[in-house]
Amino acid sequence: MNQKHIAVIGGGISGLAAAHRLRQLDPTVEVTLDESASRLGGVIKTTEKKGFLIEGAADNFITTSSTAIELCKTLGLGEELIQTNSGGGGAMVVSHGKLEPIPPGFMVMAPSRMWPILATKILSPMGKLRSGMELFVRPRKYQHDESLRSFICRRFGTEMFERLVQPLVGGIYTADPTRLSVAATMPRFLEMEREHGSLIRGMMNGRRHRKHDKEGRGGARYSQFMTLRGGMSRLINALGDSLPAQNLHLNSPIERVERLGNGWLIYKQNSRPVHADAVVMATPATHTARLLKGVDAKMSRRLRNIKYASCAVVSLGFRRDQIKNPLNSFGFVVPHVENRLILSCSFSSEKYVGRAPAGTVLLRVFIGGAMQPGLLRMPSKQLIEMAHLEIAKLLQVKGKPILRHITRQNHAMPQYHVGHRTRIHEINDRLGEHPTLALAGSAISGVGVPGCIQSGNNAAEKVIQELWKTDPNQDGSTTRRECIPAHS
Ligand SMILES: Cc1cc2nc3c(=O)[nH]c(=O)nc-3n(C[C@H](O)[C@H](O)[C@H](O)COP(=O)(O)OP(=O)(O)OC[C@H]3O[C@@H](n4cnc5c(N)ncnc54)[C@H](O)[C@@H]3O)c2cc1C
Repeated sequence: MNQKHIAVIGGGISGLAAAHRLRQLDPTVEVTLDESASRLGGVIKTTEKKGFLIEGAADNFITTSSTAIELCKTLGLGEELIQTNSGGGGAMVVSHGKLEPIPPGFMVMAPSRMWPILATKILSPMGKLRSGMELFVRPRKYQHDESLRSFICRRFGTEMFERLVQPLVGGIYTADPTRLSVAATMPRFLEMEREHGSLIRGMMNGRRHRKHDKEGRGGARYSQFMTLRGGMSRLINALGDSLPAQNLHLNSPIERVERLGNGWLIYKQNSRPVHADAVVMATPATHTARLLKGVDAKMSRRLRNIKYASCAVVSLGFRRDQIKNPLNSFGFVVPHVENRLILSCSFSSEKYVGRAPAGTVLLRVFIGGAMQPGLLRMPSKQLIEMAHLEIAKLLQVKGKPILRHITRQNHAMPQYHVGHRTRIHEINDRLGEHPTLALAGSAISGVGVPGCIQSGNNAAEKVIQELWKTDPNQDGSTTRRECIPAHS
């Protein structure tokens, strides 16, 4: 039987989503997945410790795209999906050493309501005046990519950038906004500038439409973010369980990939290369660059140019009575200009049920990122101590934590620097030369979980369609086999 073999390399959410989609599209294809680590999930890892549910990376996903929700439902996890708690909500920002609420209606980069901006203590009167002038700032005519800092300073002024946008965007991308591409990370705000001539006008318009939609439409409605009752690893485990156990290869780092006609040779340590008819690479871009160096030097160079940032996630548990702050939001972000040693803090137990035992609180503190990489050279014990000291001041916490946990995420967050879209374009151009090769992962079409799943789905669809085109009777390479290449 000419059973086709598709090799997926990398067992994070992107690779797992690709493998799952491949089997959905064509159950007759043999799909294998090689993962270098001893477990699946990549950066995603849920740990249970002393009754706390601790997330090492993603603790939820955005629901503006249905991709993640659909996948959970397909895997039978629909009943496990939970929404953010209705009690709290919103986020805070550190402003001159104190926590202040982010003005209601402020969405990452721009306000959709002007009154909360006028009323906030975060901006000075001059800062408010300058941000209101956004309505009169002419849209930029030329089309080349712009950094997030330049875009926001141009439209709203420096204060709005430093006090609100930088910490909010920094929280998502752990990035340096002077290098971050606005086109690659926040394209809808560029569209607003083009369509409405102003982000404020665009946001207000969007708000009116949403209100109208809400009044007019019934059906299921979700909060903006969701997660799984048992944590994000539930999704990873369900994806892993949906693949035949014998086709999941853990502790299996791939060393390189070579093209053989229309097919591929996958090289593992200390074993013969394996033939595949198609390959989905779902490894971080820097690893993909190395694995594909011999296949396509130009594509490899473009991939290598995608930089990554590191961070540490410190999880701290306290008894509720140790914390004076009412914790009536979902967390806070820290502007770089505040000169503190943490990026943000998420109130995990206030966001979702089941994250901490009754009477206790779970807080997640983020450290490092592209703006403070040096901090990550500290030993873990010191990082935990530092996170504790920082939140103790801001949230008025007394005494020692009852739970301490740290996850180091080294080179985990791709940085969508200015020019990222062109780079991806060029990579896609090169992929045109390799029809049975596809790339997935957080560097490709969004760093969030839904973007990663989508990249896996897209990669699966590309290679399956290509294989369906080939006639197995004319092409002997479509039979899976272990083989030794002529030169080895
Ligand atoms: C701290 C943090 C917080 C986050 N929070 C959120 C959030 O709240 N919501 C959200 O939507 N997103 C969040 N994200 C982003 C999201 O979690 C990631 O973008 C996503 O999980 C990346 O998945 P991936 O499969 O593309 O990459 P990875 O998870 O990096 O997986 C790649 C896999 O490839 C494997 N690999 C590497 N080299 C080889 C090789 N040679 N052979 C075989 N395997 C190899 C690796 O071991 C790894 O398992 C967060 C990320 C971080 C780091």
